[in-house]
Amino acid sequence: LDAKEEFTHTTLATDVMRPRRTDPPLALLTQDGMTVDEVETMVRETTYNGFPVVVCAESQRLVGLALRRDLLIAIENARKRDDGVVSHSPVYFGLHAPSLAPDSPPPLKLRSILDLSPFTVNDRSPMEIVVDVFRKLGIRQCLITHNGRLLGIITKKDVLRHMAQMANQDPESILFN
Ligand code: ADP
Repeated sequence: LDAKEEFTHTTLATDVMRPRRTDPPLALLTQDGMTVDEVETMVRETTYNGFPVVVCAESQRLVGLALRRDLLIAIENARKRDDGVVSHSPVYFGLHAPSLAPDSPPPLKLRSILDLSPFTVNDRSPMEIVVDVFRKLGIRQCLITHNGRLLGIITKKDVLRHMAQMANQDPESILFN
């Protein structure tokens, strides 16, 4: 195998990440502008374990990653507490509460459950490196960005699926021994 041929076989993060072209878009949250009800519905209507939080839908700039169970527990606890959080309370993940309408119910701050530095790689990163990081850091998901814009996600199971595929296609592969 000469260097050029090897290069053409390199699988990149973009080849493995979800969503694929035909999938529905990434299930994500915005750092403000959503209600308790909207966040809860998104979490309950999907089965994903992680939800990227972005500044706004237009910029797709990553703020952090919220885990499904942390979101559900935080919302449940807030509802139990006697501080007036209701279904149409605004949720925010930023440092400061967004400006609220005078008749708005109290907001719910969820910054404390956010992983502010989830593992993130560029979409052109070779999967060989991504696999290595999953192994060495024991992470469960990795976010994929391009020029600061969030594009997708790779979970541990996606990596295992990718490794199984590679092993089938290329039994001699030394990447995944
Ligand atoms: P696992 O891969 O361990 O089952 P998940 O249930 O979180 O973990 O993810 C299932 C599939 O959905 C994976 O292929 C993953 O890439 C994709 N996925 C994970 N999170 C999201 C999300 N927020 N939006 C869209 N797809 C996602």
